[in-house]
Amino acid sequence: MSFTLETKCLHLEKKQNPAKDDSHCCNHYGSISFPIYQTATYAHPGVGNSTGFDYSRLQNPTREQVEKIVCSLEGGIDALALSSGMAAISLLMELFKPGDHIIADSDLYGGTIRLFDNVSSKNGIAFSRVNCSQENLETLIQKNTKAIYIEPPTNPMMNVADIKEVAKIAKRHRLLLIVDNTFMSPYFQNPLALGADIVIHSGTKFLSGHNDTLAGFIVTNNQDVQQKLRFLIKTTGAGLAPFDSWLILRGIKTLALRMERSQQNAIKIANWLLKQEDVVKVIYPGLADHPGHEIIKKQARGFGSMLTFQTATAEKAISILNRVRLIQYAESLGGTETLITYPATQTHADIPEEIRLKNGITPATLRLSVGIENADDLIADLEQAIKREE
Ligand SMILES: *Cc1c(COP(=O)(O)O)cnc(C)c1O
Repeated sequence: MSFTLETKCLHLEKKQNPAKDDSHCCNHYGSISFPIYQTATYAHPGVGNSTGFDYSRLQNPTREQVEKIVCSLEGGIDALALSSGMAAISLLMELFKPGDHIIADSDLYGGTIRLFDNVSSKNGIAFSRVNCSQENLETLIQKNTKAIYIEPPTNPMMNVADIKEVAKIAKRHRLLLIVDNTFMSPYFQNPLALGADIVIHSGTKFLSGHNDTLAGFIVTNNQDVQQKLRFLIKTTGAGLAPFDSWLILRGIKTLALRMERSQQNAIKIANWLLKQEDVVKVIYPGLADHPGHEIIKKQARGFGSMLTFQTATAEKAISILNRVRLIQYAESLGGTETLITYPATQTHADIPEEIRLKNGITPATLRLSVGIENADDLIADLEQAIKREE
């Protein structure tokens, strides 16, 4: 039986439940909620005989379950669950060695830029950072280029690279295409099906969905990459803890409902913001005039619930942050609660100002992660925050 995405958020298809589950300990006593296996280690039935689990740094049943669910949602051959999105990206960077070169989007999650600029560079990996939705990437490929790293849409400027087109270039030159799919979640976009080799998620965001836990995922359909990553997670040890794995399992159960509802709210808010005098620009890929609108329609099943807008002045942006009541002024995204972020001093504070401005992040740029509250309440809050005079 093959399931649709909504069902895959809750159930594994039979073929993904290996015989070992039936023959060994259990069907978990019929438990509908997958148990939390809070154990560090596992007793062996005999010498040369294993339950399939040896030590929880290598694997844990609860972690394995969330990995299987995410793997099935993204259509990979394997998924690894890590303690945060940055732990996932750090592990991934261990695939590369000194002298390697990677082409990456210029506008990326701030933590990813910090990792590339300060840690990966120190380890001898070189980067060309460009707007991958605009540049001709082929001209940037060098002898030592090993991968292309994109985030469609990017954080926070919502540039949408054409995954299929970039994948063609990557295939032609035998490069790995890595896609950070956090903003879309597997519910709206599946990069592996479009030609990517590796998908990254900050599971902290839409997969968890409740602003209550950190997690990260790497999904791949490349056998060689899969084997290397399994060795690396066992060796470096940032696998997701059993309880956090369970929280993500629980979060994913409502992924489809949350994605639909928060998108609906985002579309309403984007259209409302467009009509506000104090708002000079609304950047949301669901709007027809967004430069990535046609591409996202082609490669995704939705536009998501992340939107960026610009006010006329920095003072206005700061006053909105100070005056929102229902909407919380906080980092992060993809949860049930609506959050507003100030990229210049929060998520992208470590990026040199010159590069920030070049990417379009000004002191008047605000980012909204729209949650699942009633859209009218959210608009009423924005209205009082935008319109109130000093
Ligand atoms: C948050 C985020 C990350 C990092 O994930 P953490 O779970 O915070 O470590 C990476 N990429 C994107 C697009 C993100 O939004």
